[in-house]
Amino acid sequence: MSTIDTTTATAREELGRFGGKLIGPEDADYDEARKLYNAIFDKRPALIAQVASADDVTAILGFARAHGLPIAVRGGGHHGAGLGSVDDGVVIDLSPLDSVEVDPEARIVRVGGGATWGKVDAATGEHGLATPSGVISTTGVGGLTLGGGLGHLTRSFGLAIDNLVEAKVVLANGDQVTANADENADLFWALRGGGGNFGVVTEFTFRLHEVGQVVAGPTFWPVEDGAQVLRAYRDFITTAPRRLAGFFAFASVPPGDPFPEEIHLRKVCGVVWCHTGTEEEAAADMKPLLDALPEPLLHGPQPMPHAAIQGAFDGVYPAGDQWYWRADFVNDLPDEAIEIHAKFGAEMPTWKSTMHLYPIDGAAHDVGPNDTPWGYRDANYGAVFAGVDPDPANIDAIRRWSVEYQEALHPYSAGGAYVNMMMDEGQDRVRASYRDNYDRLARVKATYDPGNVFRVHQNIQPAS
Ligand SMILES: Cc1cc2nc3c(=O)[nH]c(=O)nc-3n(C[C@H](O)[C@H](O)[C@H](O)COP(=O)(O)OP(=O)(O)OC[C@H]3O[C@@H](n4cnc5c(N)ncnc54)[C@H](O)[C@@H]3O)c2cc1C
Repeated sequence: MSTIDTTTATAREELGRFGGKLIGPEDADYDEARKLYNAIFDKRPALIAQVASADDVTAILGFARAHGLPIAVRGGGHHGAGLGSVDDGVVIDLSPLDSVEVDPEARIVRVGGGATWGKVDAATGEHGLATPSGVISTTGVGGLTLGGGLGHLTRSFGLAIDNLVEAKVVLANGDQVTANADENADLFWALRGGGGNFGVVTEFTFRLHEVGQVVAGPTFWPVEDGAQVLRAYRDFITTAPRRLAGFFAFASVPPGDPFPEEIHLRKVCGVVWCHTGTEEEAAADMKPLLDALPEPLLHGPQPMPHAAIQGAFDGVYPAGDQWYWRADFVNDLPDEAIEIHAKFGAEMPTWKSTMHLYPIDGAAHDVGPNDTPWGYRDANYGAVFAGVDPDPANIDAIRRWSVEYQEALHPYSAGGAYVNMMMDEGQDRVRASYRDNYDRLARVKATYDPGNVFRVHQNIQPAS
């Protein structure tokens, strides 16, 4: 028996009352259970503990600490840097904790720490309610929220963390605590952007907003018009009403329904819209941008449930593709930067590769730079450069495009990047992402996890 097989056997022996499932390298479901969303990573943990309760989390943490094993915490498994797993260590897989409980009267939703957004959006949507999340439904609530949470509803209602009311947390020493504005307020502050560095969140409570039908979908122009479209978008978006969201994208038209066949796989630039008002209001709010530009190849926004736009790109990006991410926060888009965007946008190496500029103004700007660890409240955009392809043979091409694109634009950026859209880029980069909030995060870390048990994250190191 190898050391890692011994770990599983020992865990089964020692964790007699464990309510979840322990999976080791000898088990038939090990290969399925260890898969991450980003197939660049092929990690082989010693033990995967699929937990069924906060008590299971406490038990498995005690086991890993007692045996000196590194720990990774897995929510939806989406992080680009493969942070949901660890070689030769213990994965605390939260996926069975996926309950969603909507309280329409109190306008809150309680969500298990391992749920994915699709389930949340579907449940809240039944009541004509929603909370801000991202732009794809398969992403984990845990990782997206703890890193910030940037998406279609950001301009209207802020980041996911701006709507977090409470978290139930298992700390590094196994204690189970509640964090909210009154209880463990320093921990609550740190959880709202500081990632999984402070504990395992077994339950989130979010505030809900009235969001019934949205008017959503893409407008595409030829990629050759990239500079013109991006200039017009820049001049339009930061003054548009908050009820209108629309991120700018370089992408390729997916080769399937509902897109017309004649533009399948065509490289395009455009805006992916999500408007929380009526069809008439959406048309009026989009008009200034559309009037400033030539006739698009496709103008697709239409009324749909909020959950439908959240799931619209799930088919294009299933688990198992190779991803290489780079990112930066951006204040302004001078014309020189736009020319660089247009050049790299036209050179996307594969059809799934994409660049998104997510607007982070509107309600996200209502929160002060030190109110949460998410310090770039003055930035107008989160830029993400994602090289994506199913074929491992194309890893070098997607990585090169993403890195060269980001590096060419970095001088025009605000300095740091969104921790949820970075690879493992070193401690300086993590520090830059939190600006002057890093030192406070390090102090909170020293209180709640002085031994840095939770380090398979964009790591905040405990203040000494
Ligand atoms: C296709 C795709 C689309 C995306 N779109 C968006 C978007 O629109 N907006 C956006 O903001 N981000 C987006 N992201 C980035 C996303 O926010 C991060 O990948 C996020 O980390 C995913 O969370 P997860 O729980 O799925 O990932 P995991 O890899 O499981 O976890 C990520 C990190 O969070 C920690 N973690 C997860 N859950 C918990 C928990 N309950 N308690 C403690 N720690 C936990 C993990 O330990 C790890 O460090 C997208 C990612 C992908 C792959």
